[in-house]
Amino acid sequence: MSVLVYLEAWEGKFKKNTWESAFYASKTAEMLGTEAIGVCIGNLEDDPSLAGQYGISKVLTLSAEAYANFDANSYGKAIADIAAAQNADTLIISSTFNGKALAPALSIHLDAALLSNVIALPESSSPFSVKRGVYSGKGFNVLHSDAAKRVVAFVPNSIAPEASEGSASVESTNADASGIKVVQVLEVDRVKGKIPLPEAERVVSAGRGLKGPENWGMVEELAEVLDAGTACSKPVSDMDWRPHSEHVGQTGIAIKPNLYIAIGISGAIQHLAGVSASKTIVVINKDPEAPFFKAADYGIVGDAFDIVPKLTEEIQKFKAAN
Ligand SMILES: Cc1cc2nc3c(=O)[nH]c(=O)nc-3n(C[C@H](O)[C@H](O)[C@H](O)COP(=O)(O)OP(=O)(O)OC[C@H]3O[C@@H](n4cnc5c(N)ncnc54)[C@H](O)[C@@H]3O)c2cc1C
Repeated sequence: MSVLVYLEAWEGKFKKNTWESAFYASKTAEMLGTEAIGVCIGNLEDDPSLAGQYGISKVLTLSAEAYANFDANSYGKAIADIAAAQNADTLIISSTFNGKALAPALSIHLDAALLSNVIALPESSSPFSVKRGVYSGKGFNVLHSDAAKRVVAFVPNSIAPEASEGSASVESTNADASGIKVVQVLEVDRVKGKIPLPEAERVVSAGRGLKGPENWGMVEELAEVLDAGTACSKPVSDMDWRPHSEHVGQTGIAIKPNLYIAIGISGAIQHLAGVSASKTIVVINKDPEAPFFKAADYGIVGDAFDIVPKLTEEIQKFKAAN
């Protein structure tokens, strides 16, 4: 039995998240005493053999026209067929936007248990046990699965991939594309010039405390000096102060950056649901009783309009001096 991992590429390019998946799979394979095989679908610009640096022994590439654009059902069917051919009983999927759709489709095609919202490497092989986030990130449970096959869908940024020497062999493969409804992309509306939130290592976020969209300049300046992405609370995007792509929380994007700076955000439970897994949380709020302070690693009580420009200036000075 082997471990198969979907190595997702975006317009042919791999990202940090791809290598996190590869590393997750190779560590899982190591624990199970088997090999980790990668599968890439679509046309690639980057070199899949690089997955070897993260412990993948072999990468299978599937680039038929029918798979040019992501479709959870057809990708799920293709990966399930490849899993059967490779004798894989453990499938690793990162819960990216596409991965969240792919994992359940794959578990149906494979008749496999779906272990979702996983936040760490597996704890044991017998029974196969994983730690999962529950109650919108407020707690966790450890799930034991004795299913013959499983799909492990892990939350991006859960582990830090470590690269070493190595190169994976690369083979092209086929899948039965008959009966597939080819997905046509009619229009792409892309957020330009920003760090995509799910990938951002640092995020500067602001809420209704900023009073209006005209005050976001200082948020963007702070984000720029920190090389951070920008986010916002739900009311802010509902009022069109900021684009919906920046809305984080229970009904928005769930993120897990190393640093999350929350400015003028009260810290409602629905907001915390999407950000509380951040490694370090800094809260700036003029109300010392704001609930967000309970979730903060560092808190600054004061007016954001005073504090944020000073913080940006100090970081600029620090960067210039170091
Ligand atoms: C089903 C459901 C789903 C939801 N999903 C989400 C979600 O995904 N994400 C989300 O964010 N919300 C969500 N909400 C809304 C959530 O409950 C809160 O209403 C929302 O998060 C509050 O946004 P806010 O903190 O920006 O605004 P407010 O609650 O108005 O808080 C503003 C904060 O700014 C502070 N402040 C004001 N002026 C200043 C200043 N000058 N300097 C510093 N601080 C200042 C205030 O003290 C206050 O704490 C959801 C609600 C429901 C019911």
